Amino acid sequence: TKTFHSLRPRTPFPPPHQPLSITHFVLSLLQSSTVPTTTTTTYLNIPSTGQSLTYSQAIDHIHSLSSSLKNHYSLNSKDVAFILCPPSLHVPVLYLSLMHLGVTISPANPLSSDSELTHQIQLCKPKIAFATSQTAHKLPSLPLGTILIDSPEFTSLLTQPKPQASQPRVEVSQSDVAAILYSSGTTGRVKGVGLTHRNLIALISGFHHNREEPDPNQPEQPPVSLFILPLFHVFGFFMSINAFSRGETLVLMERFDFVQMLKYVEKYRVTYMPVSPPLIVALVKSDLTEKYDLSSLRSLGCGGAPLGKEVADKFKEKFPHVEIAQGYGLTETGGGATRTIGPEETSQLASVGRLSENMEAKIVDPETGEGLGPGQRGELWLRGPTSNGVSAGYVGDEKATAESLLPDGWLKTGDLCYFDSDGFLYIVDRLKELIKYKAFQVPPAELEKLLQSNHEIADAAVIPYPDEEAGQIPMAYVVRKPGSNITEAEIMDSIAKQVAPYKKIRRVAFISAIPKSPAGKILRRDLVNHALSGASSK
Ligand code: AMP
Repeated sequence: TKTFHSLRPRTPFPPPHQPLSITHFVLSLLQSSTVPTTTTTTYLNIPSTGQSLTYSQAIDHIHSLSSSLKNHYSLNSKDVAFILCPPSLHVPVLYLSLMHLGVTISPANPLSSDSELTHQIQLCKPKIAFATSQTAHKLPSLPLGTILIDSPEFTSLLTQPKPQASQPRVEVSQSDVAAILYSSGTTGRVKGVGLTHRNLIALISGFHHNREEPDPNQPEQPPVSLFILPLFHVFGFFMSINAFSRGETLVLMERFDFVQMLKYVEKYRVTYMPVSPPLIVALVKSDLTEKYDLSSLRSLGCGGAPLGKEVADKFKEKFPHVEIAQGYGLTETGGGATRTIGPEETSQLASVGRLSENMEAKIVDPETGEGLGPGQRGELWLRGPTSNGVSAGYVGDEKATAESLLPDGWLKTGDLCYFDSDGFLYIVDRLKELIKYKAFQVPPAELEKLLQSNHEIADAAVIPYPDEEAGQIPMAYVVRKPGSNITEAEIMDSIAKQVAPYKKIRRVAFISAIPKSPAGKILRRDLVNHALSGASSK
């Protein structure tokens, strides 16, 4: 069989039977690292409020919060906590504290619509929620209620005396689900992806050991990361835990603002930013970049959606001192399945990098199921970072799990890819339905259901339409009911009222019938070709 293995040095991590939470694991990495955590190294800076938190404060908070949540709310492993909070000083500490107790966290997008939230809550069945005074009204009542993280009550939970050593320690099994994140996978509606403590431990251990060393020419410049990514999506979620394990300073933006971002790079001497491709497009196009001192920036970690080679080349012309370290992953892999490290690899701008530690891959012919070799295009399958697959599957959805996660641990990614003979992965196209608007997931099936429930619409299909700034925008093909004169604008407005802003339909075309296979499957590829030929003939 043609299986590709990671070329990176394997990293040792604890055996699977040892009880261990991801929090405990990253705390021990942090303590063994060179960062003087007992001193005043800053973990978080929140520029908009002026708040900051040192590593020693963060560690105290994690211990206090986890023990007070256990004592006052009897939260225990196997409980689920739903989290609806924009980025703030408390969010990373909240994640780590809950996972320390073995409580499964389920962070969601604070911009979600009511029906999106209802669906996610049905999937993950939370006992308790954490929200802010701005977002709490969106949540239903839960058995243990909702805790506002911007309330005095929460502050007191954070600062209660540390637990006594005599208290029994919570035993978290590595096979327990640490987090449920949301993804539509290759088809259909949003599902809850269960990531185990072990998945995260294995991934973090690889990232921790095989990292790029600080720039020897600028040893005095400590690593400072600016986070503009949401913390509920796998990219930001994973990177925030990874940064904690390394004792890095994070500057968190509560909401994205391009000019503020440039100001903060200058002010905090930011060295690294994890970003998605639309930000690279913006940096290339904007003249405002000239107005700020961005000379501290050394590297951008780019992932979440395809980065055009042309954009990457233009970026390198404009910012020759900044490397683009690309990575590729899925919610289902819990983080970066491939990445580039160091000047040699990052100069391969067309590739998303080499397999991360402990990862295996296959390229499979989607028609025949045959394994393919280097240079040959097919569907990418991934396995790892544990012996039983990349995630625990979709919670409460055995059918969807069985369709994409095979019994021997292989995950079908739905991406059309190839490896070159040096182990670099290239993403060619997406075979799955998923649309990515600025790297945010837009599941077509969800929009199609909403369109089909409109009494003036007989049938509908939603496809990705290329867009320079966003990567892709959702486009709807609509079959009107006889006698209906519903307009493009009316359709877009009605959907916009029902979904989070990034899921809006931004283009509509009318058609007499949606092309379907004999089995009734929408022939999306035909519609995409139709849309593109229409665009070129205009
Ligand atoms: P998500 O679960 O939201 O992270 O979406 C995963 C999907 O995003 C992948 O299956 C790819 O289709 C796409 N994706 C993620 N990273 C990249 C990348 N670096 N280049 C191209 N596509 C990407």
